[in-house]
Amino acid sequence: MTDVKDAPRVPAKRADKAPIPASWDYAPAPEAKDLVKIEDHYGLFIGGKFVEPISKQRYTTIDPSREEPLSEIAQAGKADVAKAVRTAREAQPRWAKLKPSERAKYLFRIARILQERAREFAVLESRNGGKPIRESRDVDLPLAAAHFFYYAGWADKLEYAFPNRKPRPVGVAGQIIPWNFPLLMLAWKIAPALAAGNTVVLKPAETTPLSALLFCDVVRQAELPPGVVNIVTGDGRTGAEIVSHPDVDKIAFTGSTEVGKAIQRALAGSGKRLTLELGGKAANIVFDDAPLDQAVEGIVNGIYFNQGHVCCAGSRLFVQESIYDTIISKLKRRMSTLRVGDPLDKNTDVGAINSKMQLDKITSLVQSGIEEGAEIYQPPCKLPERGYWFAPTVFTNVAQSYRIAQEEIFGPVLSVLTFRTPDEAVEKANNTPYGLSAGVWTEKGSRILLMASKLKAGVVWANTYNRFDPASPFGGYKESGFGREGGRHGLEPYLAFDEA
Ligand code: ADP
Repeated sequence: MTDVKDAPRVPAKRADKAPIPASWDYAPAPEAKDLVKIEDHYGLFIGGKFVEPISKQRYTTIDPSREEPLSEIAQAGKADVAKAVRTAREAQPRWAKLKPSERAKYLFRIARILQERAREFAVLESRNGGKPIRESRDVDLPLAAAHFFYYAGWADKLEYAFPNRKPRPVGVAGQIIPWNFPLLMLAWKIAPALAAGNTVVLKPAETTPLSALLFCDVVRQAELPPGVVNIVTGDGRTGAEIVSHPDVDKIAFTGSTEVGKAIQRALAGSGKRLTLELGGKAANIVFDDAPLDQAVEGIVNGIYFNQGHVCCAGSRLFVQESIYDTIISKLKRRMSTLRVGDPLDKNTDVGAINSKMQLDKITSLVQSGIEEGAEIYQPPCKLPERGYWFAPTVFTNVAQSYRIAQEEIFGPVLSVLTFRTPDEAVEKANNTPYGLSAGVWTEKGSRILLMASKLKAGVVWANTYNRFDPASPFGGYKESGFGREGGRHGLEPYLAFDEA
C-alpha cells in the first residue's frame, strides 16, 4: 500500500506475549468504482420525480475514506418538507385502497430489483459510508432485499397477523434514519409502512444520502405509484421539520438517544405516534464453558463489524475470570489479523470512520479511557494517509464507572470487564442506561435461557452475535428506545385498529 503513515492515533502495544501470526500480504482486490454512476447533484424525490429544492440550498457529500467530494445534495427546508408531506397525503388513500396483493406485488418488485442491482448499491454504500464492500455486499444488500420480501408477504395477510382486530393504515409516516446502515435502515422503515398501506416521507442521514437517492430509481423502475415514497435530504434541521409537521401521523426514528429524546419532547401531546430505536452499550458475556475460538470470532464480529458503528455492537465484553488470560490473548492475536483500509477492497475487514465528527468523538472517548486508567491495546496496523480512520482498539483494566464502559462510543473500541458468577454478570451487564442487545456464550442451554430472561435487552444472542433476520423483532428497553422493527411486531406501529 502506498500513501500510508504509521497509524495508531494513540500508542499501540503488542499483545502480552501472544504469538503474532505470520502476517499475510494480500494483493489489492478493489471492486470497480464505475459499477455505479453518481450524479453531480441531486434534487428531492417528491411525487415520483426529482425536483429542485425550494430552499435552493445544497451541501457536499463525501467519500470518508478519501475525503473526496462525491455529489451535491439538496438541503430540504420547511417548504420542501411541506410539499413532500402534502404529496404523501394525497397519494395515501389510493395506495391504501389497492388490493393488498397488489401492494405486495410492488414490494416484491422492489426486493427483486434490489437483488438485481445489489453490486451497484454495495459499491455506493461503501463509497459514501466507508464500510467494507464485503459487508455492504454480504450483509446490507441481502438483508435490505430480504426485508422487502418479508413485508411483501404480510401485505395481504394483515388480518391474520392481528386476529380479531381490524387493521387499517395510520396514514403518512415520517421516517428519519442514521448513517451506519443507510439502505438497510431505509428498508426497515419503508417496507412495513408500505405493506400496511401508508405512504412515507423519509430522510436519510446527511453524511450518507446516496443509496436512498439511488433507491428512488428502484421506486421508479418498480412503477410504484407516485407519492407513495418521498425522499427528502438534509441534516437535522430537515429531520426536525418532518417531526413538527402537523400532517404527519407517525414518526419512526433511528439515531442517537439525545436526538430521540428531543423528538419525544417535541411530539409530547401532539397525538402523533412514535417509535424510537436509539443507542446501546451491549454486554457480550463469555462463560468459561463457551467454545472459546467461536466466542472470539463473535467478540470481533460484535465490535469491529462496520467499524463498531452499530447500535447493538457488543461494546462491553464480560469474561468469566477463569478464562480471562486465554480470551485476551486469543483476542489480541485475532485482532492482529484484521485488515484495515480501503472500503472497496474485498480483503478489507475494517473500513473508514463515517465522518470527521464521529472520528473526533471516538478519539476523545478513547483518550478519556486512557486518562481514567484503562490499558489500551491496538494491533500494529497501517492506516491510509487520507480519510478518517481508527485502529481496532481494546481496553482492559476497565472499571464500570469509566466513560468507556458507560457511554456509547459507536466506533471500533471494546471495553473488557470480568465476572465470577452468572448473577454478577447479569448485574454488571444491566448496569447501563441502555438495553438494546446482549450476547451470551456458553455450552449450557439452561444458562442461556436463564441469562436471556434476566438481561434487560431487546435482543439476546446466544453463541452468536449481530445476527439479523427480517422475521425477528428488534428494538430496545430504557434509553435504547421503544417499539419494535422486524417481524409481525414491526407492522404494528404502522397500523391503527378498529374493533373486528
Ligand atoms: P447519529 O449519532 O447517528 O449521527 P443523530 O441522531 O444525530 O445520530 O442522527 C440520526 C438522524 O437524525 C439523521 O438523519 C439526522 O439528520 C437526524 N436528526 C438530527 N437531529 C435531528 C432533530 N433535531 N430532529 C430530527 N432529526 C434529526
